[in-house]
Amino acid sequence: MKTNRRDFVKTVGVASLGALVSPTAMGKTPIAIKNGKGSKLKLTFYPYDLQLTHTFTVAEMSRNTTPVVLTQLEYDGLVGYGEASMPPYLGESHKTVLKFLNKLDMEQFTDPFRMEEILDYVDSVEQGNRAAKASVDIALHDLIGKIVNQPLYRLWGLSPEKTPVTSFTIGIDKPDVVIAKTKEAARFKVLKVKLGRGSDKEMINSVRSVTDVPIYVDVNQGWTDKYKALDMINWLKEQGVIFVEQPMPANQMDDMAWLTQHSPLPTLADEAFHRLPDVVKFKDVYSGINIKLMKSTGLWEARKMITVARAMDMKILMGCMTETSCAVSAAAQLSPLVDWADLDGNLLIDNDVYEGVKVIDGKLTLNNRPGIGVKKI
Ligand code: MG
Repeated sequence: MKTNRRDFVKTVGVASLGALVSPTAMGKTPIAIKNGKGSKLKLTFYPYDLQLTHTFTVAEMSRNTTPVVLTQLEYDGLVGYGEASMPPYLGESHKTVLKFLNKLDMEQFTDPFRMEEILDYVDSVEQGNRAAKASVDIALHDLIGKIVNQPLYRLWGLSPEKTPVTSFTIGIDKPDVVIAKTKEAARFKVLKVKLGRGSDKEMINSVRSVTDVPIYVDVNQGWTDKYKALDMINWLKEQGVIFVEQPMPANQMDDMAWLTQHSPLPTLADEAFHRLPDVVKFKDVYSGINIKLMKSTGLWEARKMITVARAMDMKILMGCMTETSCAVSAAAQLSPLVDWADLDGNLLIDNDVYEGVKVIDGKLTLNNRPGIGVKKI
């Protein structure tokens, strides 16, 4: 009779993994892999639409739904979860992500631990497609964590109690709506307020009429005059604002460098910032960067970004798109390394399909589940 794969794992595989993770240390018997022989990586995926609780308005547009694609990477009986989120302004869609994922030949890989090799391949298949690539990266990271039965933050040597508080986003709206939303967000220790549509002082005054928590400001490229931008930043500093994200259009690099030089508050690149080489490009143009997994192609490159940014003394915000708890929990695994977090994308939707990182007393709170720390609900 042919040896059952699970039996093989139980009898042989545990011993082979023993050197890597002690069963005693983990509290239970680890699940082992067969050293790359036999199993192949199997990728599956399906499109999904996130329903936003409130219409989301930023400087350039409004919307009620966000398309995502949910991925699964299977190996040796274990399944890693991933996600691509495609807010329209980034140019990806259900169609482009499904097309990209269909091109991938993941079954050529028999050892999921060769992450650099696997993710280099995924990145090389086509240019762009950053969210699609992130959906594979996240699933692979989740899978690795499940194979060794450890949360990613633990594999990376990070302390879970060092997660930052997360901000909750208040979109641009009329004062009465802004006041109501701010009251609803009372459990958050910091708010992120969207500006850039001409009602900036009214927005801040509305928020300040009900709370004195620190405020992060995101202008979404809404200011085009650097002198007016500086005046506004000086005023914002007096209102308890901590930083200003993407104050000017991404292509106004010289104006942005001037503004950063004169600004009393840190400036962060978001729409202007995508991949690893951008970190170097933006030294002296912005004070810091907003890393989002959907821009960085996932956790693998996001970790490299953090290393480079730290080496250049740049600030780091870990952000997200509107996402399920899958991608948000993945980003949260890295959050002990960053200055600020804006990981509220899963809190803005009505139809999450995962349970993962929680916000407790305003703070991102990681759990002990392996990988990215999620389970399906
Ligand atoms: Mg932003």
